[in-house]
Amino acid sequence: MSYLTVQNAIKRFGSFVALNDVSIAVDKGEFFTLLGPSGCGKTTLLRSIAGFNDLTTGTITLDGADLRAVPPHRRDIGMVFQDYAIFPHLSVFDNVAFGLKPRKVPAAQIKTRVMQALRAVRLESMAERLPAAMSGGQQQRIGLARAMVINPRLLLMDEPLSNLDAKLRIELREEIRDIQKQVNIATIYVTHDQEEALAISDRICVMSAGRIEQIGTPQEIYGDPQTQFVAGFVGTLNTLERGPATEALLVRLGLSSNPGLTWAVRPENIGLAGSSMQGAALPGKVNKFTYLGREAHLQVATPAGDLVVHVANPSRSEILAPGSTTTVVVPKESLMTFDADGRRTAAGG
Ligand code: ATP
Repeated sequence: MSYLTVQNAIKRFGSFVALNDVSIAVDKGEFFTLLGPSGCGKTTLLRSIAGFNDLTTGTITLDGADLRAVPPHRRDIGMVFQDYAIFPHLSVFDNVAFGLKPRKVPAAQIKTRVMQALRAVRLESMAERLPAAMSGGQQQRIGLARAMVINPRLLLMDEPLSNLDAKLRIELREEIRDIQKQVNIATIYVTHDQEEALAISDRICVMSAGRIEQIGTPQEIYGDPQTQFVAGFVGTLNTLERGPATEALLVRLGLSSNPGLTWAVRPENIGLAGSSMQGAALPGKVNKFTYLGREAHLQVATPAGDLVVHVANPSRSEILAPGSTTTVVVPKESLMTFDADGRRTAAGG
């Protein structure tokens, strides 16, 4: 049995269904991320695990034991929030020690455990400082140390990096991942940032409108999305317009066009004529060109609709001014197909 399980969780707020039959199973030491747009139910699920919400129906177990009867403060769960929830008038040491007070830990042990937690987040030299004079990243590391000092059975993090600037977010997400692997605590992490989720997680659970769309490793979620929602939310997806141009393209690729299916491609899996890609060609006109050094992003109007094309290490012939004509090459293996319900299906041959 998995370490943490949530089974058939339903949470209603009045007539609104925030969680609609959600089941997850998280292993010991696993970094498990809930990813989805605002309002999809991520925080509601996290708060239910912490015990701040009661599920309408469903069960939650931790290490084999039913959690429903255990009040939040007895669940031994560490939490890190978006706003750091740091006390400005307490030193870094006292902020971290705060979590141990209600647990009646002997004074001598408090010192050892707090310093151990501060060492893990690389703040041991700042134990006596007041947090007000510290950066957002440092304040969030205090939050992390305070969550870990109780030796929690589970760590829950709700968008812990969203108040930080882009550079710090990237630095701290790598630190969080390293610390989590060192201490090996099962962690559930909430974010709406797909890149962050891909970078930090062992597995990702993509949610939409209170339901789970897909659970998988970052590679499975990005490379083998099972629904049109997942493919569009994690990465960019070009959907081919229905009509004669798409039908002709499919015929040239030896595929049968079924009117019930949606055909789509990722920008990096199509290319411009002259590249090494092999496939069917679509004439196009460049609407937008963005040069990013290692990559160029183009928006090309084609008879099958506007397509975003990402070109890695663009060659001189691939640097195109808006208004230029070009040819987009669509390889057969780049196509993804979805049925009328948005579920991935095998491409018709
Ligand atoms: P965000 O990224 O914006 O925090 P989220 O995915 O975490 O979004 P939740 O906070 O779980 O979303 O909210 C899911 C839905 O449930 C939202 O539509 C929200 O308005 C609703 N909701 C959450 N808490 C309550 C509540 N106490 N009463 C009524 N509706 C609520």
